[in-house]
Amino acid sequence: MDGADDAAADPDRDPALGEVVVSEADLRGRVAELGKEITGDYRGRTPLLVGVLKGAFMFMSDLSRQVELPVEFDFMAVSSYGSATKTSGVVRIVKDLDLDLTGRHVLVVEDIVDSGLTLNYLLKNLQARNPASLEVCALLLKEGQQKVEPPLRYVGFTIPSDFVVGYGLDVAERYRNLPEIRIYEGALA
Ligand code: 5GP
Repeated sequence: MDGADDAAADPDRDPALGEVVVSEADLRGRVAELGKEITGDYRGRTPLLVGVLKGAFMFMSDLSRQVELPVEFDFMAVSSYGSATKTSGVVRIVKDLDLDLTGRHVLVVEDIVDSGLTLNYLLKNLQARNPASLEVCALLLKEGQQKVEPPLRYVGFTIPSDFVVGYGLDVAERYRNLPEIRIYEGALA
């Protein structure tokens, strides 16, 4: 391993990684709370969790284990046109869902809501498929950044507007495996 790879493996030695915004312990605690809430709200139903790839994969995995109900899973992948840091609101579905949403209680699991444009587009698209209900559980909400206000039934944490990585969130596919959320201070492509 060379020096650069070594630093990237240790968050505290990687100069691109800044302060911890949400710790591993806080993530664990809040995800458990969200799971309890969802269990209570969906009792008697079988929610269909829809994860938005790739960022939501870790959150969805942990969250689903805290929901004490039969749940089903599906995933979609979207790519938004725009720069690395700013979405344009024009979203392309790269991988669509496998399941039919008609009559289903759909809970979209999102990693982070910034401008809200991506989620807004997705919700319009999913609503057109006639689910019985459509709600959103977002792990992170960037404070004061929303250009549109998608309805968020569950929010894990409201955070400042810095660019963050970890717990599923990447920059150029790196850092998704950090167990906490940290500010990214390196260059953004
Ligand atoms: P929005 O459409 O709400 O502006 O952006 C949502 C998408 O942009 C998220 O699903 C995520 O992919 C990306 N994004 C927004 N803020 C951040 C951030 O701080 N870090 C990372 N890694 N991705 C972000």
